[in-house]
Amino acid sequence: MRRMRAFTVNREERPQARSRQNKIWPPWEDSNFKLGPSLSELEGMRDGQTWKKTALVRFLEPDEGPYRYRQSFVGGRYRISTADHPDFGGRDVIHHYWSQSEYGEDDYRNLSQKMQYALELVDFRYFHSEVVDGKMIYHECDSSHPKGDPRRCKMCESGMDRLFGGHKAWSLSEYRYNQLMDVHSDLQNICINDDEELFGKEIFPGTIGFSCASCDTELKSEKELQVMPSAEKESFYLSKHTCPECGANDYAKEIAIIERANGEAVEAERGSMFDKLLKITATGEKTTINGRARTNPRSINYTITHEGQEFSNLEQDLVDMGMSDEDLDEVLKPMDLKWHYRPEMLDPAKFDSTEDYVQEVLDRQASAVNRENPYKNDVPKSMSYNNGNSTNGSSKSWRKR
Ligand SMILES: [Zn+2]
Ligand SMILES: [Zn+2]
Repeated sequence: MRRMRAFTVNREERPQARSRQNKIWPPWEDSNFKLGPSLSELEGMRDGQTWKKTALVRFLEPDEGPYRYRQSFVGGRYRISTADHPDFGGRDVIHHYWSQSEYGEDDYRNLSQKMQYALELVDFRYFHSEVVDGKMIYHECDSSHPKGDPRRCKMCESGMDRLFGGHKAWSLSEYRYNQLMDVHSDLQNICINDDEELFGKEIFPGTIGFSCASCDTELKSEKELQVMPSAEKESFYLSKHTCPECGANDYAKEIAIIERANGEAVEAERGSMFDKLLKITATGEKTTINGRARTNPRSINYTITHEGQEFSNLEQDLVDMGMSDEDLDEVLKPMDLKWHYRPEMLDPAKFDSTEDYVQEVLDRQASAVNRENPYKNDVPKSMSYNNGNSTNGSSKSWRKR
């Protein structure tokens, strides 16, 4: 019997594969969710040919909203912006030149800054690994069965090592994040009560009241809601309130109802994107840049869908796949996204002082844009640059529906 080796292989036993140097994709070491063809698949395609990849994933519900951070695109790659970072006092060399016209026109066109929204997910794909020319190469398995399927997948048939995709971080642009939120909104209108008549039905009439999540004191009555414009209802739902009874300041607990065929009103439990596998489909077009097979970045398109009525519990799903408690702990261990998306991938603890760390990051930004670090020997000062991260966590935007 083939065990899910992804969870049992010791770090020492893992093949030495460094994605950054070898440009390969080790699913267990590269903890970023990626969906696209491998290099060898791309090399086998002609320019202009399109590819399509799908993955089933489950998003993990964080305590607060998505992890938000700003990134710059410069020198052909993304860098974590520091303008909003608490240690940097508004200092960001790339932003400095980007916001000033002294940066040359041609270079300017290749610079951009944008907000990213990072979430954690479990990637339900499996991968086969093999060593080619001393390098680990990964291939997506054609079977989603925990034990593989020799009839569907040649690599399963040949007995190649097989690994579970597992826990990853996925950083989404605002556009893609909103795409995801639309799916979430759809799911929030679906009733997931454990009740044959109601499960999977659209929740109607919906919200009839709000109460304190701590002590159940009514904050908005059915009567009040009847005369409340829906925009106002929405904003009440999306903001925190102080309970007059217990003083707790939190989101209000919504009371929504759904009606049975006989007219009986039942309190409805809403679905969400955290209760369901989502299917991510990516498409793109092969191109050749400087003699190398690539996907044209402008051609990449994602669709996010949910299929059927298969709401489920993630932990139970993983147990059903044969995972032990230890496997489960490892797969579901929360990631530190602030660390995961840290500027220049540097560890502040390895520097004598925070300022030393800050200056090293700024120097690297300066060399990326081939300019001077304007903050050298500078006293930290605030640039009061649009401080997007200050609202990090407070948006709780998947309350949206
Ligand atoms: Zn396979
Ligand atoms: Zn209360």
